[in-house]
Amino acid sequence: MSGPAAAAPDVPFDVLVELGKNQGLSCLAVMTPPSRLAADGLDRMLADGVGDMAYMNEHRELRLTPNGLLPSARSILAVALPYHPQREDATLRRARYAAGSDYHQLLRKKLARVGDALNQRFAAGWTHRAVADSAPVNERTLARLAGLGWIGRNALLIAPDAGSYRFLGFLLSEAPMEIRSAGHGADRCGSCTACERRCPTAALVDRRVISERCISYLTIEHHGVIARDLAQRFEGWWFGCDLCQEVCPWNRFAPPAGDPKLVGADADSRLFAITAESFDTAFAGRAVRRIGYERYRRNLLVALFSLGRLDEAGPIIAEGLPLVLAQARELGIP
Ligand code: SF4
Ligand code: SF4
Repeated sequence: MSGPAAAAPDVPFDVLVELGKNQGLSCLAVMTPPSRLAADGLDRMLADGVGDMAYMNEHRELRLTPNGLLPSARSILAVALPYHPQREDATLRRARYAAGSDYHQLLRKKLARVGDALNQRFAAGWTHRAVADSAPVNERTLARLAGLGWIGRNALLIAPDAGSYRFLGFLLSEAPMEIRSAGHGADRCGSCTACERRCPTAALVDRRVISERCISYLTIEHHGVIARDLAQRFEGWWFGCDLCQEVCPWNRFAPPAGDPKLVGADADSRLFAITAESFDTAFAGRAVRRIGYERYRRNLLVALFSLGRLDEAGPIIAEGLPLVLAQARELGIP
């Protein structure tokens, strides 16, 4: 005698794959909202110090309880959107993720459209909340639980078939979705330590990033002067840094950008030509804009210093911006 047939999930995974594909989202997983995430990684980071990222100290509980963002959520759709993985020719260097449009908006819109399409397909009125580094959620931990990858020694989420050049996004939803892990949560760093050895500022220690030594933090989050002993190791980076990803062997499998809006280039000559007046327009809709003009010019000065190209820094210093002048003093530039 056979028992009662299992009820079909309201939203089969195949439908999510189809709706995701319509938005250029090909790497998906679905999980039940975890009641609570492990706190050790977050607490270690907070104990190490988060410098000018004081916001990390706020909403600790919310970061650990993702369904706090939508208490009625029954499912979380987790996605990874690849960004432009190629190294650019420019000698002044910027993190690949910032090549094109700011992904926060881009990815959230894609996820919101998936939510709308779901409601339409099932004639439902489910509430959804799209998150892409836009709310206090411990995203990497959540993505690992969904099987989208493991957290490598460079503290980034890595998938064996797609590497780490990917944005993470989540759709918390009242829709009851078929649970499906992407199956890549197991650690595959093995005995590799390439990222730790490559980091020019020794910011990777025991599988975590010491924020205050990391070029990415210093160029994007840090508001003050950058210490000379760190600045001289910047290797030309003026916004973010990809070195610990460039050496990761799994990035040999990085796919192309998942959206043409994520591709772009910043030639050195263009960077120098941007003025206080043109900065907002020049970086409209891009992540670079959030650091503002003064930190942008500080970063260019530090990048030039690290490359031994101070002969090009005259106009940057002559502009007289207080942060830039303080940075020049720190670097010993008369
Ligand atoms: S982003 Fe750069 S500075 Fe930061 S940990 Fe990676 S290699 Fe080091
Ligand atoms: S470079 Fe090696 S150790 Fe670092 S994240 Fe990649 S596989 Fe892991």
